Amino acid sequence: MATLQVSEIFYSIQGEGATCGRAAVFIRLGGCSLGCRWCDTKYAWHGGQAWEVAALVAALCAYPARRVVVTGGEPFEQDLAPLLAALRHQGYTIEIETAAFVPLARVQCAPLADQLNVSPKLANSGVPEARRICLPVLRFLRDTGKAYFKFVIDRPEDLAEVDALVQALSLPAERVLLMPQGLTAAEVLEKSRWLVELCKARGFGYSPRLHVLLWGGPPRRLSIFLSSFSRLLPIQEVPLWLPRLAATGQHPSKANHPKGWDAKPLAYVL
Ligand code: SF4
Repeated sequence: MATLQVSEIFYSIQGEGATCGRAAVFIRLGGCSLGCRWCDTKYAWHGGQAWEVAALVAALCAYPARRVVVTGGEPFEQDLAPLLAALRHQGYTIEIETAAFVPLARVQCAPLADQLNVSPKLANSGVPEARRICLPVLRFLRDTGKAYFKFVIDRPEDLAEVDALVQALSLPAERVLLMPQGLTAAEVLEKSRWLVELCKARGFGYSPRLHVLLWGGPPRRLSIFLSSFSRLLPIQEVPLWLPRLAATGQHPSKANHPKGWDAKPLAYVL
């Protein structure tokens, strides 16, 4: 039985990229070996809870959206093929978010997704180029015709690196987005003001970090209204383990979670 290490499952809106604003269920897989200095999901670098793919897909029924974003961590560090096949079978629209630094063999299942949000990391990540840029993988993902390339920009000087990669990969401008690096709303807004001008000059798209602007943190901390329930229920917290409990009958162990099951970020407000 295929299993995946899962850091968290949550329902929110897509906060970045070409489908920013769409409601989606997020499956954040555990594990990433890259180590970007400004990573806002360091809690997902290691570990996670083992989920059988069938239970994972069944758990998604608790949410009204038919769009799934497989994120991380780095999703392609695990074998995604069984999950993608199961999600397709259930008719979900699938997005995968990847930094595309993994071996080429790892991304062969990528065409099973509907959209690939590819975010090659620049020097501002603090990671050596040889570890973060893998041109054969980037070309493979580009050639699926499903990829958008989103670059995290910290300073205007970062654009030289983007220009070089866009040229090396012959990327059409409409498939390229620039997103400000920032962990606070003030930081994102300040950088957005000059970044949109750089986007306009090149015909690139601009990506906000909507979750940071609205809630000041990564999507896992979002509180969101589930309209189908909010009409019926008072405001209350719904722990992450409820879908798992419904799907498997198992209550996850507090000891298996890096923050423990009392941690507020695991709760979602209806
Ligand atoms: S690739 Fe993504 S998850 Fe991995 S360290 Fe960088 S920002 Fe974090």
